[in-house]
Amino acid sequence: MTTLDRTSVEGRRSYPPRVSAFTRTFWEGLGQGRWQTTCCQECGRQTFPPKPVCPHCWSTSVEWSELAARGTLYSWTRIHAAPTAFAGETPYAVGIVDLDSGIRLACRLIDGPGLKPGLPVEMTVLQFEDGPLFAARPLHPTTEGAQYAR
Ligand SMILES: [Zn+2]
Repeated sequence: MTTLDRTSVEGRRSYPPRVSAFTRTFWEGLGQGRWQTTCCQECGRQTFPPKPVCPHCWSTSVEWSELAARGTLYSWTRIHAAPTAFAGETPYAVGIVDLDSGIRLACRLIDGPGLKPGLPVEMTVLQFEDGPLFAARPLHPTTEGAQYAR
């Protein structure tokens, strides 16, 4: 299984995800660099975020499976006027990523020069003091020093 790079980030997550008995596997795995979601055993399709019921065929026969660590940036924006919880982090970049395995997801982007649709990206783990978050970053950074800034 591919393991994502993990980067230590000072402080706590501004809006920690709610972890349920079901999603605990995802969040605890992410903290170890495991990038996974549920895959339906009936129709064979992955779903993200992980779900106990397949949204394509309603089967409850799902198992954990590895996600693609790489993908393509579909779209992105830089947030200057943020919700209150994230106000202390502005400006920051978020994007929509198409993983090579076919999943489209929204996530934080490691900000830096050269962000544009079509950019090859890879997923990475931001290891905060209270737990992990996932983010995407350019696969081939155009300059050194692009990093998650608070
Ligand atoms: Zn299914």
